[in-house]
Amino acid sequence: MTIWNLGSINADLVYHVPHLPGPGETLEARSLSHGLGGKGANMSVAAARAAARVVHLGAVGKDGTWMVDRLLEYGVDTRCIRSVGPTSGHAIIAVDDAGENLIVIHGGANRAIEAGALFADMDGAARGDWFLTQNETSAQAEAAEIAKSRGLRVAYAAAPFDAGAARAMLPFLDLLVLNAVEAAQLEEATGQGIDTLGITDVVVTLGGRGCRWIAHGADPIEIPALPVTPVDTTGAGDTFTGYLVAGLDRGLPMEQALTLATRAAALMVTRAGTADVIPDLKEIEDVAF
Ligand code: ATP
Repeated sequence: MTIWNLGSINADLVYHVPHLPGPGETLEARSLSHGLGGKGANMSVAAARAAARVVHLGAVGKDGTWMVDRLLEYGVDTRCIRSVGPTSGHAIIAVDDAGENLIVIHGGANRAIEAGALFADMDGAARGDWFLTQNETSAQAEAAEIAKSRGLRVAYAAAPFDAGAARAMLPFLDLLVLNAVEAAQLEEATGQGIDTLGITDVVVTLGGRGCRWIAHGADPIEIPALPVTPVDTTGAGDTFTGYLVAGLDRGLPMEQALTLATRAAALMVTRAGTADVIPDLKEIEDVAF
C-alpha cells in the first residue's frame, strides 16, 4: 500500500554548543551543519528507508528545490510537493554535548498548504492506504477528513503539541503517536485520559525508557528502549513514527512494528543529524544492540 504523508519540509541548521543557551545568553557554536529536516520530511524518509511506498504531501519555497531533490534521492515520491512563496520552512537547532536539543522553527511554505490542493493530490489514494501527519503544516484536519472519507487509515504524531490542532484531529484517528509530555498536554486539553479517546491505537514514546502501546479497551503494553549511548536525540521520535507506520503498512502486527520502530530510533539517537542520517532496514538488521 502507500503512505500519504502531509508534513513539513525544513532546512535544518544544526549548531553544536557546549550547553543549551538560557534566556538572554549569547553562546558561540563550535560548529554548524546544514541538512534536510522537518518532522514531515523525517517521517517520509524514515518510512521510505523502511521500504514503504511514500508520497509526500507538502510545500517548499523557491529556496527549497534542493530539499525536494534530496527527498527524491531517498526514495520518497515528491510529485505532490508544491513550490509556494519565497521561503521554505527552516529550523535552528542547538545540540549540546549530552545530545539534548533546543529548536526554533519558522514554518514558511509549510504553513501555506491548502486543503483544496490536497483534495486533488490524494486522488490516487486507495482504501487501506495510510494517511500520516504532524503539527508543522496547515490543513492537517481537512486532509485527515478527506483521507478518512476515502477509506485511508489515519495516523497522527501530535508534535509539536498544539491543543487546537490535536482536538481537530481526534475524530479521524486510527493511530496516535505522542511523547509523554504531549500525552499530558492532550489529557489536560481534552480533560480525558488518552486511553478514553476511542482511538484504536495510542503509542506514547518515553525516550530512553521505550514506549507504551495502548490498544482501545486493552491494558497498556510497555516495550523497552534498546541500550545505546545517545549522541543526538533529534529526529528519534520521527524515525520511530515513520518506521511504525511503514511496519503497519507492510502488514506487521503492532508489537512487531513497535519493535522495528524501537530499533530504528535507537540507532538514530547514536547519530548526529536528521533526515540525512535515518538508518535503513539493512543497517537496523546488521546492528547488534
Ligand atoms: P524527539 O523530539 O527528540 O525526536 P520525541 O520526544 O518525539 O523525540 P522520544 O520519546 O524521546 O520521542 O523518543 C522516541 C523513541 O526513540 C523512544 O520511544 C525510543 O524507542 C527511542 N529513543 C529515544 N531516546 C532513546 C535513548 N536514549 N536510547 C534508546 N532509544 C531511545
